[in-house]
Amino acid sequence: MSKISTMNLHYTSLSEIDEKVQISKTFFFEKQLKLSHESNPRKKDLEFRKLQLKRLYYAVKDHEEELIDAMYQDFHRTKLESVLSETTKLMNDILHLIEILPKMMKPQKVSDSSPPFMFGKTVVEKISRGSILIISPFNFPVLLALGPLAAALAAGNTVVLKPSELTPHTATIMEKLLTTAGFPNGLVQVVQGAIDETTKLLDCGKFDLIFYTGSPRVGSVVAEKAAKSLTPCVLELGGKSPTFITENFKTSNIKTALKRIFFGAFGNSGQICVSPDYLLVHTSVHSKVIEECKEVLNEFYPNFNETTDFTRMIQERAYKNATESLNSTNGCKILPLNTSIGPNASELCIIPPTVVYNIDWNDSLMKQENFAPILPIIEYNDLDETINKIIQEHDTPLVQYIFSDSTTEIEHILTRLRSGGCIVGDTVVHVGITDAPFGGIGNSGYGTYGGFHGFNTFSHERTIFKQPYWNDFTLFMRYPPINSQKEKL
Ligand code: NAD
Repeated sequence: MSKISTMNLHYTSLSEIDEKVQISKTFFFEKQLKLSHESNPRKKDLEFRKLQLKRLYYAVKDHEEELIDAMYQDFHRTKLESVLSETTKLMNDILHLIEILPKMMKPQKVSDSSPPFMFGKTVVEKISRGSILIISPFNFPVLLALGPLAAALAAGNTVVLKPSELTPHTATIMEKLLTTAGFPNGLVQVVQGAIDETTKLLDCGKFDLIFYTGSPRVGSVVAEKAAKSLTPCVLELGGKSPTFITENFKTSNIKTALKRIFFGAFGNSGQICVSPDYLLVHTSVHSKVIEECKEVLNEFYPNFNETTDFTRMIQERAYKNATESLNSTNGCKILPLNTSIGPNASELCIIPPTVVYNIDWNDSLMKQENFAPILPIIEYNDLDETINKIIQEHDTPLVQYIFSDSTTEIEHILTRLRSGGCIVGDTVVHVGITDAPFGGIGNSGYGTYGGFHGFNTFSHERTIFKQPYWNDFTLFMRYPPINSQKEKL
């Protein structure tokens, strides 16, 4: 049985980072200069961007097997999970961007019939921001690095990408595929490394946008550093996302609900930003839910052991954090019946899917985002009190999941609890909806991407108003001198 990844990633030297940042900026300005000399810059730009997206598409396609193997080596994610959750989605998203690009790049007319504007022409065009820094996390190392990259390229930017150091095999393959994709030198560059290298990138103050995906703790470091140079940033963060099974949910659907909840809570070993972090179950259905939890766990994992295809915790520290929280919980644990994990569990960083019930808001499992295959259950009586508690403890989660058959109740929860997204009747899958905005609110982040939202995020909307000269007599009011005649009009 192999351990989790022990590969040493080759980190970019700090002096090379300065150079890469400068190349990224210079390339952007030179590209714009070249375009400005074209007879039809917009058409040329569209062709250029399409070509880069095609290059990215084929580079991913050609390296798909290598990427999947790398993710398996990094944290034992199965091939099927990686294909479904990362490479297929990524390639579809790139194709979609290619398809919508002509429409997205077309300036939009705005009409205003008030006197100063009635004879002029107003358009809003989406211009490239410039040089973009993308910092990505470990848990979906390909999609969350190359997805934003595709949107940034679609919007005509240059990019410096900093993949997660916790998935070294995947980061290495990504660098290889980006280096050999055929992009012009300087368009896309990779910086490999951890805190020192990312800090160096953040401190240079030279980017036009920082797109960060990761934990709220590091997110605030990124935002603080970005603020020093007035660099805008998008923060895609995590947090504790609640799931409700309410009193108005048909008991005959509880099993289906639990399958969908476990899919989100235990997939990728719970290391999903939109994982159902904890379950809020109404007293009237609580015992039924616990009973069905046991059944579904046994059905999903009939013989859970070290050879089961199950993603590992990314590193020993994450394993220790999660097991410490599990050891300190006051709740009752449910594991799949035939679970046998030997003494080398910690070396393998494997935690079996675990449901924990009879817990309260002060439990160790409610202190921080679990980010592990652990699903705490809190029994509740009063919906409004429970929502108050969520607002008080976690404010604005990245997502909320609702299992209820009452439209009034669903509306009630949605009205009271703000969240980045919401699914009624399922978990996690909303991230796959093309052209639906994905992002957080408040402490789960700000800014969105996904389909054309990504294009917009990586663009600046510029208003261009063209005023003719012949109509100056209609504008006489604004010119001095102000006199009583004008005031009377
Ligand atoms: P992380 O914040 O530890 O790391 C993310 C990136 O930041 C990495 O590239 C890392 O090298 C860099 N980094 C780490 N510490 C840093 C520091 N002190 N200064 C500068 N850079 C630093 O996150 P992670 O463990 O890779 O990912 C898990 C977290 O990301 C979870 O909280 C999860 O919910 C969140 N997440 C959010 C989304 C989303 O789209 N909202 C998606 C995936 C993960």
